[in-house]
Amino acid sequence: MSVFQNHNFENEKALIRVDFNVPIKNGVITDDTRIRGALPTIKKVLADGGCVILMSHWGRPLKDIEKKPGLTLADFSLKPIVAHLSEVLGVTVDFADDCAGDEASAKAAALKNGQVLLLENLRFYKQEEKGDAAFAEKLAKLGDVYVNDAFGAAHRAHASTSVIAQYFATGKKMFGLLMEGEVKAAEQVMHNNQKPFTAIIGGAKVSDKIMIIENLLDRATDIIIGGGMAYTFFKAAGGHIGNSLCEDDKQDMALDLLKKAEAKGVCIHLPADSIIADKFAADANCSSALSNEIPTGWMGLDISNMAVEHFSKIISASKTILWNGPMGVFEMEKFQHGTKAIAEAVAAATAKGAFSLVGGGDSVAAVNKFHLADKVSYVSTGGGAMLEYFEGKELPGIAAMN
Ligand code: AMP
Repeated sequence: MSVFQNHNFENEKALIRVDFNVPIKNGVITDDTRIRGALPTIKKVLADGGCVILMSHWGRPLKDIEKKPGLTLADFSLKPIVAHLSEVLGVTVDFADDCAGDEASAKAAALKNGQVLLLENLRFYKQEEKGDAAFAEKLAKLGDVYVNDAFGAAHRAHASTSVIAQYFATGKKMFGLLMEGEVKAAEQVMHNNQKPFTAIIGGAKVSDKIMIIENLLDRATDIIIGGGMAYTFFKAAGGHIGNSLCEDDKQDMALDLLKKAEAKGVCIHLPADSIIADKFAADANCSSALSNEIPTGWMGLDISNMAVEHFSKIISASKTILWNGPMGVFEMEKFQHGTKAIAEAVAAATAKGAFSLVGGGDSVAAVNKFHLADKVSYVSTGGGAMLEYFEGKELPGIAAMN
């Protein structure tokens, strides 16, 4: 059992850093995944007989107010979350109009077992993002135990995500259940993987994914490269890619990656063929071509049949799978086939016993779109944090606990 599960919160005030940075439009929460993700942690503290003080950031209030006249702090308040949180939690949640002032201290001090208090947006204070120690210490005084359940903010060295941990003794600071799940899944893929380990990397740009690929060269057996980024590799090797996406200044880097992979015995797989289009539009005319023989005036917007078959075979033989980035412009129906087929292949491999992690931005949107999220082993909620983890960076939110 984990430290969190073993801990008894009876008569304790748990100060929980959550990631309630949820999309809100006209006061309505349009996706509450992050709120629901934190519920098991909150419920465990309450069930033990403790009380809960929740702190989170929302948006970038100070930066946005500076840029857009007319905006005020009220536009970034966490208050619209209170009613929804109370409803899904089944407990009436109180709200403090401040996170570090007298009201927060008074309300936190008066909190009784079984009660929940949500503090106002941490980023109303510039000290939060600066990782200010005095601010972190002030927050720390609100609770007896610090629980970090905000994986989505784990790559930030902010006051509430990392600096605060030093003010709690060992045994009085720990990850929450959501954070534990994310860290465990990420560690299983990067450090405790069963081979063959296949990484599927897609998306628009090589430059965004270069550090992940470099880091994976020391761990993966196979790396599948799809999406717009594949065409830089084809062009670098002398192929014709028509108007496909290409980062000309990254061609040398692409060739260098292929050489490094060969030296390390890692197989890099590029899509042999592509669905091509005569414009970047949902109603474009489409055809299929070898990915290194795309006619002038056409662009590759998805992987085609040979590539799907080849990639699916590799995926099927894998015991560990990491997927980041779509294989094509899956947002448009004509170019979603490759991404959908790869999602299905990952789901099928998972059903046969492989461990699969889908993480980072658009591939998460893709498995959701194709209703396959519950057919893979783990879908990460932490976009930027998971990407930095895969790049091999130490996440301040994790390091602070160790
Ligand atoms: P990323 O955020 O780097 O993972 O990129 C995701 C985006 O890449 C998605 O919006 C896709 O539509 C886009 N994308 C994937 N394949 C292609 C392609 N062949 N050409 C242009 N854009 C692509």
